[in-house]
Amino acid sequence: MFIGHYGVSLAAKKYESRISLGILFLAVQFLDILFAILVLLNIEHMRIVPGFTKFNPYDLYYMPYSHSLLGALLWSVLVALIYWWVVRPWDSGSKGAAIIGFAVFSHFLLDLPMHVHDMPLLMSESSTKFGLGLWNHRNLSLLAEAVCFFGGAFLYLRSTQAVSKFAFSYSIPASAGKFARLRLPGAGQLFSSRFTGRVRRQSTRDQEPKPLNLRC
Ligand SMILES: [Zn+2]
Repeated sequence: MFIGHYGVSLAAKKYESRISLGILFLAVQFLDILFAILVLLNIEHMRIVPGFTKFNPYDLYYMPYSHSLLGALLWSVLVALIYWWVVRPWDSGSKGAAIIGFAVFSHFLLDLPMHVHDMPLLMSESSTKFGLGLWNHRNLSLLAEAVCFFGGAFLYLRSTQAVSKFAFSYSIPASAGKFARLRLPGAGQLFSSRFTGRVRRQSTRDQEPKPLNLRC
C-alpha cells in the first residue's frame, strides 16, 4: 500500500490530537523507510520486473527485517519506546507512544492484503510468507488505497479544527444536507508544529452536531 498508510496517520489525530501529524506520517511509513535503507545497504533486496503485478513492477523477494510479522512487531515496540522516552516531557506520554507503535504496525497490516506472497512470518528467508495479492487487481488496489486514505482524512477533518493562519480552507459535507467549513494544514505546517501538533486542534463537532464556522 502507498498513500493508504497516511489514512491511519490522519485517523490517529482523532484519538490523540497532541501527536504531530508529521511524526505520524513518519510512523506509518517507518517500515518502508527502513526497507529503503536496508536495500541501499544490500541487506534486504528487491528487483524491478515489468508486469510483476498489475499495480506495480516490484518483486520484493527479500525483506525479512522490515516487513515480516515479527520484525514489524519489534520495530513497533522499539519506535513506541523511543517516542515515549524522547517526547514524554512535552507530549502525551504512554498514550501517544501506544498510538505511535500502532501506527508503525499498521503498515504491516495494510500491506498484508496488497502484497503477493512476500511478507514473512519470521525474520528469515525460509519463513512462511503471506500476502493476499490485491496488487494483482489494479482497480481493487486503487479502491483500497482510496478507502484507507480518504476514510482517515474524513475522520481527521471531522474531529479537528484548524488553528493556524497558514492553513487553507475548503468545504466538505459535514452531515446530511449541511456543510462545515474546515481547513487543512499547508505542507509546511505539518512539521512546524513538531511535538505539539497544533496545526489543528480537537473539534467539538462530535459533541455538538452544528456546522463549524471558522475564519480563514
Ligand atoms: Zn511496505
